[in-house]
Amino acid sequence: MTEQKPSKNEEEYFARREAELLRQQREAVHRTAVDAERRSHFMKCPQCGYDLIRGDWHGVQVDQCTRCHGIWFGRGEAERMLHEEHGIMRRVFAAVMRGVSGNPRIDP
Ligand SMILES: [Zn+2]
Repeated sequence: MTEQKPSKNEEEYFARREAELLRQQREAVHRTAVDAERRSHFMKCPQCGYDLIRGDWHGVQVDQCTRCHGIWFGRGEAERMLHEEHGIMRRVFAAVMRGVSGNPRIDP
């Protein structure tokens, strides 16, 4: 009985296939780890890591830290405050929005 030696093409095919499967497996593990990391930050203070509670501040939805009392809000809330606020707060929001979005059309 003679053992059949795989051809060079077969060896290359299986090596490529194995490498591709390994790459896909590593990518799936990486994606799962990234998703878990992202979820672990949901409703956590970006400054100190403690829990955030959602509340209403002059009709705008804001998240406040239960420890350092920092206030966080999303882009939509910032734009809303930009349009509703006057005086120094409007200038602050305009400067923040220009810095965040790079949009020079947001006037103070
Ligand atoms: Zn905090």
